[in-house]
Amino acid sequence: MPHRFAICLGFASSYERYMSNNSKISDTEYQFGNNHAIVPTFQLASYIREMGYPATAHHHGRSSVNPIPLAISAGLGELGRHGMLIHEKYGSRLHLTVVTCDIPLSVDQPVDIGVEEFCKYCKKCARTCPSHSIPFGDKTVVNGVEKYAINVESCYKYKLAGRGEWTNCVVCVSSCCYNKADTWYHDLAMWSVKTTPAKLRVLVVKPLLWIDDLIWGKRPWKRMKWLGYDNAPKTMSCNIPGCNAKHTNLQDKRLHATKTVQGDAV
Ligand code: SF4
Ligand code: SF4
Repeated sequence: MPHRFAICLGFASSYERYMSNNSKISDTEYQFGNNHAIVPTFQLASYIREMGYPATAHHHGRSSVNPIPLAISAGLGELGRHGMLIHEKYGSRLHLTVVTCDIPLSVDQPVDIGVEEFCKYCKKCARTCPSHSIPFGDKTVVNGVEKYAINVESCYKYKLAGRGEWTNCVVCVSSCCYNKADTWYHDLAMWSVKTTPAKLRVLVVKPLLWIDDLIWGKRPWKRMKWLGYDNAPKTMSCNIPGCNAKHTNLQDKRLHATKTVQGDAV
């Protein structure tokens, strides 16, 4: 890290618009979120420099630090099964930026909001991931850190399935049980997980998972229209050479996990 301290910032995207996954609407929300985070991060770094201390802004366009472990150390949230930070209120839809600096600061501590136990039993992101990149199994040691090992390659390759309709997959973010609209009953659910002793959390998590599937669906998605654009699924012919599949909805299908039924690929 270039400086002694790191100030971690999180900028929340709209839960509603992410529910249009995967679409031009969720794409726009994702990119606006990334861009919206840049200016305040620069401003904070400039402000600290004006006070006479070295400071550098790190954001999605240019960064020499990994914001996720820093945000976890700073107590912004915990690491989820899908490899992203989970914030108690905003779930995993925070765009993270960092200002590293040498101004003397008091340091925050990591938090326990129940993500460890929740992810152990939930696995909803693993079930909904179209490219099967999120593991169902236990944590393993990756680069010296114990965590759920995401298949980054298959995740990024899944972008090919967008075919110009979308570029960023946010299915796991939208599915995450921590990532919900800002309502009192969501706050209550997350509070109940957090305040239950770790060994007993499974008793709270299981009924909450059942309620989550019931209210938001096993695969959260919402039809949305915006400026004449409609995210309703379209029947598309696969344009990868050699594939004759007639995918009814490329977004929900594992890329090229086709099978033949009565001579037709589905
Ligand atoms: S971004 Fe999409 S493809 Fe990648 S892990 Fe999440 S759900 Fe899977
Ligand atoms: S969907 Fe469930 S398992 Fe996945 S990160 Fe969110 S809480 Fe954890």
